[in-house]
Amino acid sequence: MTNPRPTTQLIASNVHQLAATKLAAVGQRYTANRRAVVEALLILPGPATIAELLNAGQGLAQSSTYRNLVVLEEVGVVHRIVTSDDHGRFELTEAITGQHHHHLICEQCGIIIDVTLDATVEAALERSLAQGAANHRFRGLHHRVDLLGVCRGCDGRAGPPVRQ
Ligand SMILES: [Zn+2]
Ligand SMILES: [Zn+2]
Repeated sequence: MTNPRPTTQLIASNVHQLAATKLAAVGQRYTANRRAVVEALLILPGPATIAELLNAGQGLAQSSTYRNLVVLEEVGVVHRIVTSDDHGRFELTEAITGQHHHHLICEQCGIIIDVTLDATVEAALERSLAQGAANHRFRGLHHRVDLLGVCRGCDGRAGPPVRQ
């Protein structure tokens, strides 16, 4: 498994164009604040909490950021990942980035790390899921497979780290 970001650099202008198109399709505007949320998600290395988005240097305010995330999620620009802790984490959808990946989710601190699988493993996974789906006459569209565990920072600790 490798980190997807260094190998395939996202083209920011394409991402913003797609986001604007998806919003326009439902009569919504790509406001400066919504653009700033998307920009923060582009800058941050993996799925981000609201706090991380607010600290990403895009001048985001808490109330508008929350509202904009809801809208961006509704139109398929943002995907919210629910973890074992209270903090949802946000990332751009694969429809927006064009990059398929999986997650490592720490069950202690809730951090999420993006990983990609070998093309051969990914193909085998697709075949296996397609077979399972066919058995139930289920039409598969896309898959999500996340690995739950303990991150490097939490490994060896007695309990979850103290939050600020
Ligand atoms: Zn952790
Ligand atoms: Zn996959």
